[in-house]
Amino acid sequence: MSYDVIIIGSGPAGLTAAIYNIRAGFKVLVIAGYAWGGQLMLTTEVENYPGFPDGILGPDLMQKMRQQAENLGVEFIDKDAVEIDVNKRPFKVYTGLNTQIEGRTVIIATGAATKWLDVPGEKELIGKGISSCAPCDAFFFKGKNVIVVGGGDSAMEETLVLARVVNSVAIIHRRHEFRASQIMQDRVFANAKIKVLWNTMVTEVLGKDKVTGVRLRNYSSSEARSQNDSSRPFASNNNTKESEMPIDGVFVAIGHKPNSEKFIGRIDLDDKGYVIRHEQYEGKLLKYWSSTNVDGVFVAGDVHDYRYKQAVTAAGFGCIAGLDAEKWLDEQKG
Ligand code: NAP
Repeated sequence: MSYDVIIIGSGPAGLTAAIYNIRAGFKVLVIAGYAWGGQLMLTTEVENYPGFPDGILGPDLMQKMRQQAENLGVEFIDKDAVEIDVNKRPFKVYTGLNTQIEGRTVIIATGAATKWLDVPGEKELIGKGISSCAPCDAFFFKGKNVIVVGGGDSAMEETLVLARVVNSVAIIHRRHEFRASQIMQDRVFANAKIKVLWNTMVTEVLGKDKVTGVRLRNYSSSEARSQNDSSRPFASNNNTKESEMPIDGVFVAIGHKPNSEKFIGRIDLDDKGYVIRHEQYEGKLLKYWSSTNVDGVFVAGDVHDYRYKQAVTAAGFGCIAGLDAEKWLDEQKG
């Protein structure tokens, strides 16, 4: 099987790239994954994607995007890409033993997965008071009391977004200092609506059909992790205090994990595993803004974007990668 464009991933980034490339007259395959559709398949109401005045359920939005791509002639394989060979062209993607697909270009749009706390009660209440996206869900907590878990830039950003609409927000952080940038910390400390519980971990989320509170474990600061030893688990001894905190919402902001394992050693990744987008080289803007280190392989969406992480920005990046792939293919002809 041979294609002009192989898109790995079927979230808003991958499907938008597919729509652009098929409309440009190319033969396009989306390797969608066994669990196709990306993170929106795990959400409920989406109210910040333009074009849906009454909101839309995440899975319905993805179904519509896929339908649009299929109607235009994009082919889909609902399997995971297990291996990619970008050493020479045409590029090769393998979806299982003996299943090799060739592509003149590849767009990587495999997304990222939210890191969750993995504590009792969490899984059942995601979407029922537990969220990982303040810009998406803050509005639902207007006038309520919420917590944010984490101590990085994402946690600060989520907290500041929430503070605009909620009654109060408490940051629960497992150490005695944040790892977030100073400027973000300063903004958080300057906001009277925000308080911080240091050396504290959420050990359970409480509630049956919706979040009603959390169980917390507070450690004396000598037990808390040091900045240089973040892999060391807390020692458990008698200096811990357990408590319950009534709360309406829990925002988990402990990081994301880009879905990039299969590209290790093949495509340049940063130290957190995000695909590096080579927008500039030696101080000059590159022609293709979605370039990876491999000529003809492009990237779009949360697998490279640790910052915005929105469906609409992923779709925007998908459009950029689609247009770049199109121009790159045209250039190969001439
Ligand atoms: P991060 O920097 O890795 O921070 C994750 C935070 O969550 C850390 O404070 C960590 O605690 C905590 N954490 C991790 N696992 C935990 C667990 N199981 N239980 C409780 N707490 C846990 O992730 P991020 O904040 O998502 O940021 C990722 C990257 O994007 C960073 O480079 C960041 O600077 C960047 N970013 C930038 C902006 C911006 O510039 N506006 C916005 C967002 C993100 P420890 O500190 O104890 O390890």
